Amino acid sequence: MSILVYGNLIGRQWRESSETFPVVHKYSNEILAAVSKSSREDVAEAVSCAAAAFRGHKLPVMKRYGILRKAAELFEARKEELAFTIVRECGKALRDARAEVERGIQTFIASAEEAKRIAGKEVPIQGQPGQEGKIAFTIRVPVGVICAITPFNFPFNLVAHKVAPALAAGNAIVLKPSELAPISAVKMAEILLEAGLPPGFLNIVNGSGEETGQYLLEDERIAMYTFTGSAGVGKHIKSSTGIRKVSLELGNNSPNIVHKDAPDIEKAIRLCVTRGFANNGQACISVQRIYVHRDIYHDFIEGAVSIASQLKVGNPELEDTLLGPMISEKAAMRAEEWIQEAVQQGARVAFGGVREGALLHPTILTEVTPDMKVVCQEVFAPVICIVPYDEVEEAMDAANHSSYGLQAGFFTSSLQLALKAAQRLEFGGVIINDASSYRADIMPYGGVKDSGIGKEGPYYAVQEMTEERIVVIDMG
Ligand code: NAD
Repeated sequence: MSILVYGNLIGRQWRESSETFPVVHKYSNEILAAVSKSSREDVAEAVSCAAAAFRGHKLPVMKRYGILRKAAELFEARKEELAFTIVRECGKALRDARAEVERGIQTFIASAEEAKRIAGKEVPIQGQPGQEGKIAFTIRVPVGVICAITPFNFPFNLVAHKVAPALAAGNAIVLKPSELAPISAVKMAEILLEAGLPPGFLNIVNGSGEETGQYLLEDERIAMYTFTGSAGVGKHIKSSTGIRKVSLELGNNSPNIVHKDAPDIEKAIRLCVTRGFANNGQACISVQRIYVHRDIYHDFIEGAVSIASQLKVGNPELEDTLLGPMISEKAAMRAEEWIQEAVQQGARVAFGGVREGALLHPTILTEVTPDMKVVCQEVFAPVICIVPYDEVEEAMDAANHSSYGLQAGFFTSSLQLALKAAQRLEFGGVIINDASSYRADIMPYGGVKDSGIGKEGPYYAVQEMTEERIVVIDMG
């Protein structure tokens, strides 16, 4: 059987190279495709093509709108194919992959709409002495060439969150998708070209972060880096790019507080447990730490174990599978080691803890302490920790005791407590009566502390990807 070969998109050309790397099916390990590795010259040429497209061929707003809308229609027509691509290259359960494609389509549609709303504002300079006869206003202009670097865990929608707003804002892009799951991005690019995107506005360079990523960081023609991935790599990108713009969407070890007055405790248990295990826990806002009021602690554990025991683990291509393999056996082994280390330090496995190759069964830990890795670091696996508390302030302080700050969940019927949580929890998002993993794609999304800087969500990403320019006119 011949293996599909994917090239790098450089200007109008899909260019294959002599060196390729395999992308494997994360459940069966069969080779799905050989992907061309970009050389330093390929990366430089991709940036040249983006720069030339940006300088030479400004895309009018209605053209951008039309291309993004058309791409959304084409995604819709090919959504099963796109969902199966995600399942195979990423190991995500089919139902989660379908949801990801639906969300990606919405991200494109919302970005198309934002293209029509980019606007500056009048600046009332006449309010200062001596400014009579002058008028001032701002306009928003695209930043130029944007480099997007994306992770493996949402290979379609997280790429959409960078590509669609960047195009909506009138920029040209060089994209480096995750080398573990680049095929969804390649398909997105094929569809954008079919939708009428002129060559050069989107270029794709494939390869590892250490090589291809590094070449991108060194290219001074790139005006902005938009990155989603781990905190370590985010810090490296920030320290390597001088005064150029960066937007960083990084990790989290998401806390969720379930107070005794939660409006529907069963619903809170279901949300926390299913959202801790969705996508195998490999989501930046996955539920990881659950602080439960002591009055409901034992019922919570019983309910959580009952839900976890019903989740089907296995082949992600099957309709009823809820947890497929993790991205690699190595990643599953790392999470298993963290579980075992926690157990040696006194934690109890209330459910799971079993690994078969890259499949890590949903795992519930209790009797954990704040310094265990499964609590204080990002576990990025289907592992949740349940911790009792007596005073709600104590739970909020425990939630804040983290180097991360992306999103937190808080369950209560009390308006007063909800407002207190919104102010006291040090996160980019506080979700009341839903889990930390809630995300509507149009909302501002981004963290504080080691969870990053800048916001995504089409409107907010367009703001990040444009510059505000002041125009002053002396009317004589
Ligand atoms: P990763 O940081 O290992 O890789 C992300 C991307 O960075 C990949 O394309 C990789 O090739 C590239 N990269 C790696 N080293 C690089 C370097 N030195 N220079 C330039 N690029 C480099 O992350 P991952 O394992 O793919 O994804 C998991 C991480 O992403 C988790 O920490 C998760 O929380 C985070 N994440 C955050 C969000 C968010 O929106 N905040 C969303 C999804 C995932």
